Amino acid sequence: MNAMQENGTSLFQAEKGLTLSIVIPVYNERQMLPLLFPQLATILEPLQISYELVMVDDGSRDGSGHFLAERATWDEHLKLVRLSRNFGKEAALTAGLAYAGGQAIIIMDADLQDPPVLIPQMLQAWREGADVVSMKRRSRAGESWFKKFSAHGFYRLLNRISEVEIPEDTGDFRLLSRKAVNAMSQLGERNRYMKGLFAWIGMPTKVIDYDRMPRAAGTSKWDYPGLMKLAFEGITSFSVAPLRLTMVAGILTALAGILFALWIVAKTMVLGEPVQGYPSLISMITFLGGVQLISIGLLGEYVGKTYFEAKQRPVYLIRDVLRKNQGQAWETV
Ligand code: UDP
Ligand code: MG
Repeated sequence: MNAMQENGTSLFQAEKGLTLSIVIPVYNERQMLPLLFPQLATILEPLQISYELVMVDDGSRDGSGHFLAERATWDEHLKLVRLSRNFGKEAALTAGLAYAGGQAIIIMDADLQDPPVLIPQMLQAWREGADVVSMKRRSRAGESWFKKFSAHGFYRLLNRISEVEIPEDTGDFRLLSRKAVNAMSQLGERNRYMKGLFAWIGMPTKVIDYDRMPRAAGTSKWDYPGLMKLAFEGITSFSVAPLRLTMVAGILTALAGILFALWIVAKTMVLGEPVQGYPSLISMITFLGGVQLISIGLLGEYVGKTYFEAKQRPVYLIRDVLRKNQGQAWETV
């Protein structure tokens, strides 16, 4: 990763005297933004710590970037990182972590589904020595039973087959110490399934339960195809179990084939029955052809992943970084 940038802010580096960074990815949240700042201020001001809000504009098209840029001209707590286009939440978070300069870094959504009132509690846990404070959803208000049900099933599956345990019902809402963020910076993969990466780094972790709020305004950016993609991403990034599964399936079908062949030979020799069975032959061929194509497709998925990793493209591109009294820069990371 690139270390320095024109306006003197280093990436992945602590800023002197800065205690807390709050990293917030923003994509088309224009309605939310006027609600967000006062809420954060009511929680953060009484704490009497130095803090910054690292807002990452992930290529919003509804004027969110403009609103934030205007605010960055006078709000000294705001550090605005604008990406060159929409790269997705995972990339936006990666960018936010790179520019966060605090000793403790909290990641939260812009839609107030992650309640800011919990921030003092998270800081408390960090002061008591936790490097990661992850927030576990006790309930998910405002989400359909189908979403809850599919999320539950997904986590069970993922944990069964992946090498690291990715806790169920914890989203991206969490606190990371500077040490943990620096550890994250060493994970250079392009496909960033954040929840998996957070779990992968380990470190002393404290879990706090909370009730997840419904979205305060606007709409969720996730639809089912998007969630399915994320789920598949999670599985293939953290496990090669599907590949192993196809091998097991291959061994089992081969065994069945051998047994079946033995049975036919025995039947012909002992009972003298003529070899027959054109329909069963066809069904076996189509079945096995299908299994083979699925296996090749799955293999292709992993090969394709390697292909994208091998290109070494940056995870995101920065359009500019805006901060009161500081200039703009064009930077790749
Ligand atoms: N987000 C983003 N880029 C995207 C999609 C979403 O930065 O491409 C941000 C969004 O602005 C919000 C957070 O990610 O702050 C969570 O998004 P959302 O509320 O739509 O997801 P959900 O809470 O439904 O999982
Ligand atoms: Mg949300």
